[in-house]
Amino acid sequence: MRYLYVHIPFCDHICFYCDFCKVFYKEDWSDQYLDALAYEIQDKHIEGSFDTIYIGGGTPSSLSIKQLTKLFEILKPFSKNTKEYSFEVNPESMNEEKLDLMVSYHINRISVGVQTFRNHLLKYIGRHHTSLQAYELIKLIHSKGIDDINVDLMYGLPNQVLDDINKDLYILEKLPISHVSIYSLILEEHTALEIQGYHPLNDEEDANWYREINYTLGKLSFTHYEVSNYYRTKPSLHNLAYWQYQDYQGIGLSAHSLLNHQRIENTNSLTQYLKHHYLKEIIPLSQKDELFEKIMMGLRLTEGISISEMNTLFDIDFLSKYQTPIQKYQELDMLEIVDNHLRVTTLGMNYLNTILVDFLD
Ligand code: SF4
Repeated sequence: MRYLYVHIPFCDHICFYCDFCKVFYKEDWSDQYLDALAYEIQDKHIEGSFDTIYIGGGTPSSLSIKQLTKLFEILKPFSKNTKEYSFEVNPESMNEEKLDLMVSYHINRISVGVQTFRNHLLKYIGRHHTSLQAYELIKLIHSKGIDDINVDLMYGLPNQVLDDINKDLYILEKLPISHVSIYSLILEEHTALEIQGYHPLNDEEDANWYREINYTLGKLSFTHYEVSNYYRTKPSLHNLAYWQYQDYQGIGLSAHSLLNHQRIENTNSLTQYLKHHYLKEIIPLSQKDELFEKIMMGLRLTEGISISEMNTLFDIDFLSKYQTPIQKYQELDMLEIVDNHLRVTTLGMNYLNTILVDFLD
């Protein structure tokens, strides 16, 4: 399988919590950016079809119709046999014309940045759409024949109470949603929320909310398959590739690739990228690096990691190598071994970072 990630860094406005690699949308920068993207593809000799393509950002839907057409034309050689062709959108920058264009280029999965359906909360985090816009966009996407629709939601927002998140989740029941990603707000340095002095949920509150979210989504027939991801019809094939630690190709500003035991990092500087200086660093990965990274990604999945696969891939006895942390977290009811897989329990999902520290050599 081959996986391609394409980063579009432009946003019409900057959300109060955002720490992603993004810049304000400007028409001429975006035009130049698409040329630079085409250059990167050519310079890296990227060829052939990819099984999944994921266009993320930033806000890819902030591009104009003309720019979107150019982007899809650039990617056309790679999308001949693509099974999952995903595009991230924000409700305020979408319209029917853009949607029709996406359908004509065979986009078959759309991820909508909703964050919350509560209008007063959207304002506290600096989002510029309304709940009604998100609701109507989701129905419009579905009416165009796209039935793989993800919504991104957040919890732990300023002034949000547990009842707000429950209302958000029950709205999903009424919508043709196939997948939901739900993340706790992480307060990053230098974001507007941090400067305003906002205090996010403490660990105990976070664990309680998370448990409640899991319970409600389960009741709504969503399958929990990754720490923060749930599906009704199918998981995201593209994101599964990251968690299963498969090789993937990433292009665009700040994009990373994992290829042939190397992590390839692109520049975070738009100025450099527009000058076609896309590469920042190539980091060779040792077997020790890959072993830890595979554990780190694999334990995010509810099915966990296959013990026999780890033994074969790394030529180790996985259970004896990690006997100490496995035993410790089994006793705390945070790790379990089921069907030859080591996996994190729902309780352990909240403490995954702490667990992983004990798997570092
Ligand atoms: S739309 Fe997304 S990438 Fe852009 S500022 Fe908001 S959170 Fe960040």
